[in-house]
Amino acid sequence: MPNVAVIGGGCAGLAAASRLAEHHVPVTLFEAGRQLGGRARSISWKGQTLDNGQHILLGAYSETLRQIRLSGVTEQDCFLRLPLQLIMQDAFKLSACPMLPAPLHILLAMLTAQGLSSGERLAAVRFMLWLRLKKFRLPADLPLGQFLSARRQPVRLVKLLWEPLCLAALNTPLNRASAQVFLNVLRDSFAGAKADSDLLLPKTDLSNLIAQPLADYIEHHGGRVRTNAMISAVRKTGTGFCLGDADGTEHAFSHVVLAMSPFRLVDLIQGIPALGDTSRQVAQFVYQPIYTIYLQFPAHVTLPSPMTGLADAVCQWVFDRGVLYGQHGLLAVVISAEGEHQKLTQHDLGILVQEELQHAFPGLPQALWFKVIAEKRATFACTAGLDRPGYTTALPNLYIAGDYVAGDYPATIEGAMRSGRQCAEAIISSQHQEHLR
Ligand SMILES: Cc1cc2nc3c(=O)[nH]c(=O)nc-3n(C[C@H](O)[C@H](O)[C@H](O)COP(=O)(O)OP(=O)(O)OC[C@H]3O[C@@H](n4cnc5c(N)ncnc54)[C@H](O)[C@@H]3O)c2cc1C
Repeated sequence: MPNVAVIGGGCAGLAAASRLAEHHVPVTLFEAGRQLGGRARSISWKGQTLDNGQHILLGAYSETLRQIRLSGVTEQDCFLRLPLQLIMQDAFKLSACPMLPAPLHILLAMLTAQGLSSGERLAAVRFMLWLRLKKFRLPADLPLGQFLSARRQPVRLVKLLWEPLCLAALNTPLNRASAQVFLNVLRDSFAGAKADSDLLLPKTDLSNLIAQPLADYIEHHGGRVRTNAMISAVRKTGTGFCLGDADGTEHAFSHVVLAMSPFRLVDLIQGIPALGDTSRQVAQFVYQPIYTIYLQFPAHVTLPSPMTGLADAVCQWVFDRGVLYGQHGLLAVVISAEGEHQKLTQHDLGILVQEELQHAFPGLPQALWFKVIAEKRATFACTAGLDRPGYTTALPNLYIAGDYVAGDYPATIEGAMRSGRQCAEAIISSQHQEHLR
């Protein structure tokens, strides 16, 4: 029977450990922080529970939804599920038609989108039909901006539809983002079952949505979850691996899943010569920020829609946490990827965001307070042709999991969960093969 260590208690590590626990494989998860969840976790601020970043999920996130169900959380309780709807305040509105089957629900939404000319609408539909014909596969990856111009997508359509979707999904500027990864997301969300294109807006904080229920599940199924447990060294031994923690204690395991973010992985594996190629691959990654600005207004303040985009503004999306979480008067603004806003102090950024909101929603009063959370390395930049490492390594029984591991998805909860599950499946199937011998 293997004895598995998972290092890292973010979505990837939790998904790997829960899948192993589901199959009764002994597993210990080590998390360096005092809290699980990694880049998808909650924080406390002024008596409120906020998230380190406002997250949204899609109906196509099948592995995430499976994990959430497995942990006993009911989808209806924790998500507001909305048929795809993209609203750019005073500029653009696209709403999927719930009465029509897929993909007509999206095609008609494009044909009736408000704020586009008829030429722009037709260009969007022609593009989607062409992508379906090509099965959403490109012969070679290229930057999304370049691909959209080659497919003659009008500038306004790019600005109002494709660029906001690219930033939200890939957190990478359009002129560098991978067209192929963008198409993978479009394929799964716009060209699958109708429910796949739904927006899933969390109604509960991220720790209660993902990390805590999965940790409880792992422990109820015989696994161990250790927080404040930073692993500082991994060494190959004759029979498996020896992990060293910060106290100098050593732990022996037959299999290891390294489920930390790529920049932490580099530190941990640099002393393992066999992993030189993985180390070099990951060292080439660059990172992109995501800023979330929470603004508390008086409790009566509410927006016309739970999620609204702002065109021609630094603010990209604003979420009404009153409608979603019952946090009345609290708005969360998201700014994905790099930009001029990074040059501002947090105070000046908060003021600018407030002014933009007041311009977009006339009558909005002064905020009572605001808080800026800047995640400077929120995700790896998902650029065209990026060489992402696979989940297996040069050392048998040593795997890597995380949102950056090679796969169809950009840095998302779903990408992380899928990669964690993939590592767990590999361990489970190697165990079956051992039995058969
Ligand atoms: C602000 C923000 C907004 C986002 N919005 C969205 C969104 O809307 N939708 C979406 O799908 N995704 C979103 N993402 C991305 C998503 O959160 C990540 O892709 C996902 O959480 C990554 O999970 P992970 O397990 O791969 O890595 P991480 O979450 O980074 O987990 C790695 C864990 O390993 C731990 N660790 C590191 N080193 C060690 C060590 N030596 N020993 C033990 N533990 C260690 C870390 O403490 C961490 O908890 C967002 C991310 C951010 C930051």
